[in-house]
Amino acid sequence: MASNRPGEPEGSRALLLLLRTAPVPGLPEGLHYPSQLRAIGEAAGLSMEAEFSLEQVIAQTRRRLGWESGEGEGESPGEGEGEAGEGPGENAASDAGPYGCPGPTLDDVRPAARLRDRLAAALRADSDAMCAKLLTELSIEWELHPGLDALCQPITVSRQEGFLPQLARELVMSAMGFAATGRRSGLRHCSEPWCGLPFLDGSRDGRGRYCSTRCSGRAKARRRRDRLETHRQGEPS
Ligand SMILES: [Zn+2]
Repeated sequence: MASNRPGEPEGSRALLLLLRTAPVPGLPEGLHYPSQLRAIGEAAGLSMEAEFSLEQVIAQTRRRLGWESGEGEGESPGEGEGEAGEGPGENAASDAGPYGCPGPTLDDVRPAARLRDRLAAALRADSDAMCAKLLTELSIEWELHPGLDALCQPITVSRQEGFLPQLARELVMSAMGFAATGRRSGLRHCSEPWCGLPFLDGSRDGRGRYCSTRCSGRAKARRRRDRLETHRQGEPS
């Protein structure tokens, strides 16, 4: 199952990762590649077929052409390395078993962006009633049904097959969890101007402004720099 930071509801990390690709003031559309969807799928706990890695193909080609000696990788250049770099060992993340869903493709990117925008619209709806209506509509569109797993535990299943329906199932359920636990108001945008990413405020007083300690640290450093600057300008030259 998806792992979350403490204080985040189940599956919310994947939801936040997807929401963070949305265009916000100052940031263009950020969802372009299947690899991004794969990372979101991994965060959602989906088991996917192993990845075709362009980086690995490029690295192999470079070695084959003699542009790189392959040093530091414990692999000698020459024949036979065609298969060598393709093992899952090179990418610990792509260890999905044989029963996983297919990995994301370029065709999934635009529909995923549309799903993202509709999830965001639902979570930022003015009223709970509107949020409930929009999320229920998504659930119906993706044909999500209640079911039971092998241990008779309640699960949600999608009638549709493939990567995106599986991801949609996880994300719609996660968004519903957000809404049902009254945590929609904790969904904010980071106040750091260079960031602006959505985050879930888990602070005790509910007044968190930054998505990460990196952003709060950056803001603090800037304030300190500004103070020094003002101080220096006040000094007689
Ligand atoms: Zn931030």
